[in-house]
Amino acid sequence: MSKKNFAICYNCLKKAEYTDCCDKEPPPKDARCSALLGWLAVSQWQGVHAVEHYDFCSFGCLQKWVNSQMPSVPNIFFQALSDE
Ligand SMILES: [Zn+2]
Repeated sequence: MSKKNFAICYNCLKKAEYTDCCDKEPPPKDARCSALLGWLAVSQWQGVHAVEHYDFCSFGCLQKWVNSQMPSVPNIFFQALSDE
């Protein structure tokens, strides 16, 4: 029996259900590869045996997450650079 699985976008919480493929059977209609078409998966290594996986439904959601992970550079820093 094939089991239902799902991925959730880490940014907008959009959910995509899929069925795991099996080598012995033809791929189901909602196979992972077609259900998650266009999705992006990020793996972040966090130490020994520690890998964090994040799913994103689009580049836009990935971008927003990346932006939220980066410390923002104050505008005054750029102004100081352009004065030179
Ligand atoms: Zn999303």
